[in-house]
Amino acid sequence: MPELPEVETERERLAARIEGRRIRAARIHDERLTRPEEPTWIAARLEGERVTAVERRGKYLLVRLESGAVLLIHLRMTGGFRYEPATHERAELELDDGTRIAYRDLRRFGTWLLFDPDEAEKHLAIRLGPEPLGSRFTNEFLAGRLAGRRAPVKAAVLDQRTVAGLGNIYADEALWHARIHPLRPAGELAANEVAALRRGIRTALRRGIRRQGADLGNGAYAGGRMQHEFRVYGRAGEPCDRCGTPIQKTRAGGRGTWYCPGCQR
Ligand SMILES: [Zn+2]
Repeated sequence: MPELPEVETERERLAARIEGRRIRAARIHDERLTRPEEPTWIAARLEGERVTAVERRGKYLLVRLESGAVLLIHLRMTGGFRYEPATHERAELELDDGTRIAYRDLRRFGTWLLFDPDEAEKHLAIRLGPEPLGSRFTNEFLAGRLAGRRAPVKAAVLDQRTVAGLGNIYADEALWHARIHPLRPAGELAANEVAALRRGIRTALRRGIRRQGADLGNGAYAGGRMQHEFRVYGRAGEPCDRCGTPIQKTRAGGRGTWYCPGCQR
């Protein structure tokens, strides 16, 4: 499932091709993509629009249109854009410079929702906390979100209202950077541990963005390099890069969770 670094990589690639261009034609082949709206209605509203910007918020892409409307895209499990013909195409856009952009989604959980001006922000505000790489994601904010919670810290940081854009992979990586055991009750972290967690989250996400995300071999995020540099995710039995202890796998909040029993106490 794409997390912040994979979605940011998709944003950069899409923005480079579509910003400033006009959508000459839009074709949406899968009614699930735009539910509850009709695909033909969404396609008709996109046609003729000029794209002013492509932004990202958490795991969402915001395609801003000249009229002020926003196409809010969530890639979910396997959604993504392709710039050559691809299998499992659910939609395609043709631009005024002749560029053809395909939206591919093997599992079909992705969504395209069209919002009137300002409505997209309202939709996101109730679902997402601040951007973890932005200035509003402070130690005080994170401490407030974790305070009093008995859930494992791993589960707590997967809540998008706590850390927008974090998912299973980068949560494990962040906790390794912070030297915090994933099953520690969230509300029991000391102030210095919350600060380490915030730094760990930012470090893990920045490493992922620099390597253009992780390519986990399902064809969705081809080209990412982060999968070669995971510290713990998916590495059960391999030695920890920091202390040499074999990485262990457990479960936290119903998700497979990897950690180092030597340096994550
Ligand atoms: Zn270790």
